Amino acid sequence: MTQIESDQKNLIGLTRSSLSQTLLELGVPERKLKMRVDQLWNWVYVRGCRDFWAMSNLAKDFRDLLDKNSVLRVPECRIRKISMDGTRKYLFRGDGGHEFETVFIPEEGRGTLCVSSQVGCTLNCTFCHTGTQAWVRNLTVSEIVGQIMAVRDDLNEWPTVGSTYTSEQRLISNVVLMGMGEPLYNFDNVRDAMKIVMDGDGLSISRRRITLSTAGVVPGIKRAGEEIGCRLAISFHATTDEIRDKIVPINRKWNIATLLEALRNYPRLNNSDRITFEYVMLKDLNDSEEDARRLVSLIRNIPAKVNLIPFNSWPGAQFERSTPEKISNFARIIYNSGYPSPVRTPRGEDILAACGQLKSETSRLRRKRISVN
Ligand code: SAH
Repeated sequence: MTQIESDQKNLIGLTRSSLSQTLLELGVPERKLKMRVDQLWNWVYVRGCRDFWAMSNLAKDFRDLLDKNSVLRVPECRIRKISMDGTRKYLFRGDGGHEFETVFIPEEGRGTLCVSSQVGCTLNCTFCHTGTQAWVRNLTVSEIVGQIMAVRDDLNEWPTVGSTYTSEQRLISNVVLMGMGEPLYNFDNVRDAMKIVMDGDGLSISRRRITLSTAGVVPGIKRAGEEIGCRLAISFHATTDEIRDKIVPINRKWNIATLLEALRNYPRLNNSDRITFEYVMLKDLNDSEEDARRLVSLIRNIPAKVNLIPFNSWPGAQFERSTPEKISNFARIIYNSGYPSPVRTPRGEDILAACGQLKSETSRLRRKRISVN
C-alpha cells in the first residue's frame, strides 16, 4: 500500500453517522451534510459507483475534496472459480493482504451470497475446514459489506441510472453469514455491516433475507435479535452434550440447554421468522433415528426448520458423510413431527466450495511454489 493510499479514508463501510462525521471533518458545511451523505450513499450503495468523478450531481469542488482525501475500496478478488452448477466461489484479499472466501449460490428464484465475518475462526469445530486454519482477525465493516459489492460487480448487477428493480429480480437476493468465522464474535462489525446491507436507500436487502449463523454464542444471540433483527441459524449438529462438546467445542461454554433457552427468548421469534437448525450429517456419529427423535423433542415449541447438511468432506477430515438412506430417514422423522427438514444439496463440489477450502488450497500452492523456486 502506498503512503497516499494509507492516508485516504475508505468510505465504504462507514455507517451514515460516521460518514457524516467524516465529511464534517473534511470541511463540508453542517447544513449540507445530510444532503451530501444521501447523495454519496445513493451513488455508492444503489449504483455501485466507485469513481467520485462519475458522480455527476455532486459539486465539482466536493468531488475534488473526496478524491483527494478518500477512496471507495472493496476487497480485491484474487481467485474466482465457477462451478458446473453455477456456484461461484471467490477468494478475496482485504487490508493487510489477509484472504477470505465468499460463495454465490444461484437457486431457482433466488440467489444466496455466503459471506465471511472473520479470517480464520477461534471455534475449532472438528468437521469444519476453517477450524484447521490459523485464527487471524475480524473482518472490518468495509470488508464485510465489500464482499457483497464486489460480487455484485462480478455479476454485473448494479442498476443503470434511471432504472429500478425489486429484490425478487436480483441475483443476490439473500445473504447468509455462513462463511469463514463466527459472526457473533465480531458482533459490532457484523451489525454495522448488516445495517448498511439492510438500508432501504442503499443495498436494500431486507432483514428477512439475511441469516446469521452461529455455533451458539449465547450472549450474542439476544443482541443479534435486538440490534440486527435478522434471521438466525444455529449450527446445532448434535443432540447430546457429550457429542456436541466434541464436535462443536463452544458447547462446553454454553451447552444445549443454555442455547435452547436463549433461542426460546429470541426477539421476533414466530412462524414467519423461524430459526433454522443446521445439522451436518456425520456417518455413525449423529445420524441415528434416536438422534432425530431427540432433536425433535429438544426443539419442541420453537418455531423452527431443520436444515440437514450432508458433510462436505475435505482432505484430512476424520468424518464421513452419512449415507443417503440415513439422511432421508432422519429427514422423514423430523418432517413427520411437524418441522420442515430440507436436505441441503451439496453445491460447487467441483470447486472446493466447502468452507475454507479455497484458501487452504491457495496457501498450499503458494508454499509449493516457494519451495520450488
Ligand atoms: N461460525 C458460524 C458460521 C460459519 S459455519 C457457525 O458455526 O454457524 C457455516 C455452517 O457450515 C455451519 O452450520 C457449519 O457447521 C457448517 N459447516 C462447516 N463445515 C462444514 C462441512 N465440512 N460440511 C458441512 N457443513 C459444514
